Amino acid sequence: MVHIKTENLSYKYPTEESINFPDIKIEETESWLLAGNSGSGKSTLLHLIAGILTPTKGALTIANTLLNDLKPTELDSFRARNIGMIFQKTYFIDALSMYKNLLYFAELSGNKADKEFMNKLFNDLGITNLSHKKPTTLSSGELQRFSIARAMINRPGIILADEPTFSLDDDNCKRFTEIILGICKSYNLTLLVATHDARLKKDFVNTIQLK
Ligand code: ADP
Ligand code: MG
Repeated sequence: MVHIKTENLSYKYPTEESINFPDIKIEETESWLLAGNSGSGKSTLLHLIAGILTPTKGALTIANTLLNDLKPTELDSFRARNIGMIFQKTYFIDALSMYKNLLYFAELSGNKADKEFMNKLFNDLGITNLSHKKPTTLSSGELQRFSIARAMINRPGIILADEPTFSLDDDNCKRFTEIILGICKSYNLTLLVATHDARLKKDFVNTIQLK
């Protein structure tokens, strides 16, 4: 099944020229790199796919749903059910352990946290022994692995990552990339990673290049 499809998609910020995107067709469980220089529109495209921004033109179909047809509240619940996001910076609450942070994020979206699933996820990400720690005591590489857990906690089918390796050194960058590709494969998730980080190029077979 095609999981993410765009046709003639464009977006215009009020003061800027229109950004026109190439047509995209990503099959379920595929991993793709969204490459392009800074300012080429990578974050804008991820925000369109996540239903955070509405296209100025063109059609956007995610998991057999035409997003153009959804109302804002429907978009919010569609995103909560289908999409997990990872960012350049990590967002955790300093006062809570990582375990409690993750419980909190699971419950924020109105779900009862599935602790069994969470424990398996932590185990698969190699972060179980860090889960009692608070965010300020962890390295950026460790925090970014918890961001993967956070993105997956409500069991979406799609993971979108925006410059996730920006603050990582070469070793952590390599580790992060291996982990996210491996976990998306074993959980049958569709992955789209937006980055201008050239270190990731060799790890992806499928690339969308923005100009
Ligand atoms: P990338 O993620 O590839 O660096 P962006 O999607 O952030 O690119 O930005 C694409 C273009 O849109 C850039 O020219 C940027 O300056 C512009 N842009 C991004 N966000 C806004 C905004 N909120 N208002 C106006 N212009 C924006
Ligand atoms: Mg960006």
